[in-house]
Amino acid sequence: MAFRENLADWYVSAQGYSLTKLRTQTALSKGETPGPESSIGKIITANQLQDICNSAIEMQDHYGLMTGDDMPADGLFQQSFMWAPGLRIAGGTDEILKNIIAERVLGLPQDVRVDKTVPFDELKSG
Ligand SMILES: Cc1cc2nc3c(=O)[nH]c(=O)nc-3n(C[C@H](O)[C@H](O)[C@H](O)COP(=O)(O)OP(=O)(O)OC[C@H]3O[C@@H](n4cnc5c(N)ncnc54)[C@H](O)[C@@H]3O)c2cc1C
Repeated sequence: MAFRENLADWYVSAQGYSLTKLRTQTALSKGETPGPESSIGKIITANQLQDICNSAIEMQDHYGLMTGDDMPADGLFQQSFMWAPGLRIAGGTDEILKNIIAERVLGLPQDVRVDKTVPFDELKSG
């Protein structure tokens, strides 16, 4: 995909995210508790971080393979690229956040969960 198209995609999702944050701030200012739509933020920012760094590294050509203070942008894109997958797991994985958005924001039916009523210490694991 051409870089300009990527740029337009990032801009559109950043704008959407800004509006979602305003919705959260409005709820807080009215003394309300922000809803599950806050889960949208981490999916967008973590995936966008990975995408932007990937594109930046590609644009750096051979420099993209290296990191360190003497590299373009002090190696910031390389370091952030390595961190981004962790961010997609920490504090709720992409998949779990998508489940929350699907079920609690969009009102879609839940996945089948055969162990839903089983206490945690009785779950089969390992
Ligand atoms: C960088 C980093 C920092 C962290 N910091 C902390 C911290 O400070 N404190 C702390 O307590 N924990 C921390 N964690 C742990 C983190 O919260 C867990 O790794 C995360 O919640 C996922 O849980 P899990 O590793 O048990 O994966 P699992 O729950 O075993 O999930 C494994 C995979 O299955 C998918 N999956 C699981 N259940 C479902 C489902 N119902 N539907 C669809 N897909 C599903 C997940 O998306 C994932 O891909 C950190 C993790 C990372 C990577």
